[in-house]
Amino acid sequence: MTEPVYCDLHMHSTHSDGTDAPRRLVEIAAEQGLGIIAVTDHDTTTAVEEAQAAGRELGVRVLSGVEISVEHHGRTVHLLGYCFDSGAGRLESALAALLEGRNKRNRLIIKKLNDLGVPVTYEEVEREAGGKVVGRPHFAAALLKSGAVQSLQEAFDQYLATGGRAFVDRLAFSLKDAVGMVREAGGVAVLAHPKQVRLGPDENLETLVKNLAETGLGGIECYYNNHTPEETATFLKYAEKYGLTATGGSDYHGANKPDISLGTGRGDLRVPIACAEELARRAGLAC
Ligand code: AMP
Ligand code: ZN
Ligand code: FE
Ligand code: FE
Repeated sequence: MTEPVYCDLHMHSTHSDGTDAPRRLVEIAAEQGLGIIAVTDHDTTTAVEEAQAAGRELGVRVLSGVEISVEHHGRTVHLLGYCFDSGAGRLESALAALLEGRNKRNRLIIKKLNDLGVPVTYEEVEREAGGKVVGRPHFAAALLKSGAVQSLQEAFDQYLATGGRAFVDRLAFSLKDAVGMVREAGGVAVLAHPKQVRLGPDENLETLVKNLAETGLGGIECYYNNHTPEETATFLKYAEKYGLTATGGSDYHGANKPDISLGTGRGDLRVPIACAEELARRAGLAC
């Protein structure tokens, strides 16, 4: 058998908004001949154990992973965390606090909506979430179904978006805090899909990357399903310049994003396995 040459360090399971169970992700990775993967569910690490167990069975190395939604200038930025096995407990309690803050926020949104005379119940919203973590898109779906709005966008514009009539802020970590959290757990923090980072006024991406590198960021996601070769080259240059590990992944979500395949993204993604090896080395894990 030839040695695997590719990896995929960004994918979602049924523990967040993907449609494949953790074990299934590992099976697909094995079918694709990937040597190393990481399952990076949104704000939860609960899939990691199952994925790692399947990985041991199927001969795929599975690094611990998570994708944390953090706040940056009032906008959401995604931070990946990897290889935090030694301090997973600490990371999990921080993520539990996030979830609690979200649930508290959700109850307040219902109260505001009801006070405005919109008769939507939390049960209706939960039904939209189908057992998953409840977010504003589920409120929007429930509002649409109840006839309170004509479209999902109207639900946001009228009620749910920042400044909307039923908007409630929720507990969120700053980029810097979340980088610290991942590091305290023994992991490596990586800026996810940098092209999607919504920058604040007077901010540019390179400066942000430089500043984050100075406060403990360990990597930048250079290979991604929608990066052009030029964009990948630019991010690889940042990685080199600021001493960061270049990482990459498909952001596979199963049937929820059917045009994106595990490993190959939109067809042409190839993430060198050296990315994953360097990530593990940076975390102090043996390769
Ligand atoms: P939550 O994490 O529950 O606050 O929900 C955040 C999600 O709501 C985002 O991932 C978007 O999908 C959606 N969202 C947030 N703001 C808007 C907006 N102004 N218009 C449409 N969708 C939005
Ligand atoms: Zn997702
Ligand atoms: Fe993301
Ligand atoms: Fe993702």
